[in-house]
Amino acid sequence: MKTDRLIEELYREHTLSDEDYRLLIEGLRQEIREIDPGELYQLLRKDPETSHPDRPILQLFHRAQQVRESVYQKEVYLRGLIEFTNVCKNNCYYCGIRAGNAQAERYRLSKEQILACADQGYHLGFRTIVLQGGEDPYYDDAMICDIVRGIKQQHADCAVTLSIGEKEKESYQAYYDAGADRYLLRHETANEQHYKQLHPDSMSWQHRRKCLYDLKEIGYQVGCGMMVGSPGQTTDHLIEDIRFMQELGPHMIGIGPFIPHKDTPCREEKPGTLYDTLILLAVMRMTYPRVLLPATTALGTIHPLGRELGLLAGANVVMPNLSPGDVREKYLLYDGKICTGDEAAECRHGMERRVASVGYQVLVSRGDWRGQS
Ligand code: SAH
Repeated sequence: MKTDRLIEELYREHTLSDEDYRLLIEGLRQEIREIDPGELYQLLRKDPETSHPDRPILQLFHRAQQVRESVYQKEVYLRGLIEFTNVCKNNCYYCGIRAGNAQAERYRLSKEQILACADQGYHLGFRTIVLQGGEDPYYDDAMICDIVRGIKQQHADCAVTLSIGEKEKESYQAYYDAGADRYLLRHETANEQHYKQLHPDSMSWQHRRKCLYDLKEIGYQVGCGMMVGSPGQTTDHLIEDIRFMQELGPHMIGIGPFIPHKDTPCREEKPGTLYDTLILLAVMRMTYPRVLLPATTALGTIHPLGRELGLLAGANVVMPNLSPGDVREKYLLYDGKICTGDEAAECRHGMERRVASVGYQVLVSRGDWRGQS
């Protein structure tokens, strides 16, 4: 069968032709349908030698694990996520906190609240704090810098990651100078037409790409990424995403399934699937061996074993929620989001158990990208 040959080629060469990526992704999609997620979970926890090496889908995940272990061994990095505002000026058609969603109950955290969350995170063993939010003009550059400095003063050994959308290069530079280490800005899709399908005309695909290049130039560790199964996405779009990332050279890639939100224009769209996301994670791991790859909350939302399977497919990062309990259920990008009722400590310890259940180990460390820029 051709799929197994393509897996071996990707494992060796870390890239394929467009046509071969297509054959691989589509071939695997056909095959994986026949396995139940619980069975897949059991099979992947076994020794590769004893668990059906003749099934390409298992071969894919085992190869992805080998690649991740050759760079990051059995380590899994933790990021503590603080969702500090759900106010957003943008109107992305898929997102639950879009400006046009009048149903969303809006909130903002004060600097003191954010620092208290970060401090709690530190004591729980987090050495990366991620500040994520809508594009909320209330937090001007001076405020963001002040918050970043505050976290760094409290805990100099913590990395700070920002995920606050598109800004001008001067602003990114100011945050960097204040101490921010990393920036997450998913490119969402590398295809301009597809971008237009997902966003209103006021948003620009060119500008989003420019932001990513600006961030890299400044010296951030940069994360891009996309939803799997977003409305209108084709296999060709995914191949364009792979090519875009080969050009950009991100340090992190955030990939999760699209999940519809009931108060958005995408409410009737089909969600992305667990299996399509797992296949993409494994393909990404083999294409970019050193990349930091999270098993996302969205993956845990579409299946109870989603994050565990994500780790078994090559992911090496998890991002438990550190936001205060009373705002969690308001940061709803999509329906059914998990962990909205848990306390930070429960999330942290639950995550440790999940990671251990698949034979990996959570590390108390900044978890920087390993490689040369
Ligand atoms: N304002 C920031 C953070 C956006 S939220 C920014 O622009 O980067 C973080 C990510 O959540 C988005 O980049 C998007 O890929 C994802 N997301 C938004 N809505 C989603 C949905 N309905 N299903 C799954 N993921 C979604």
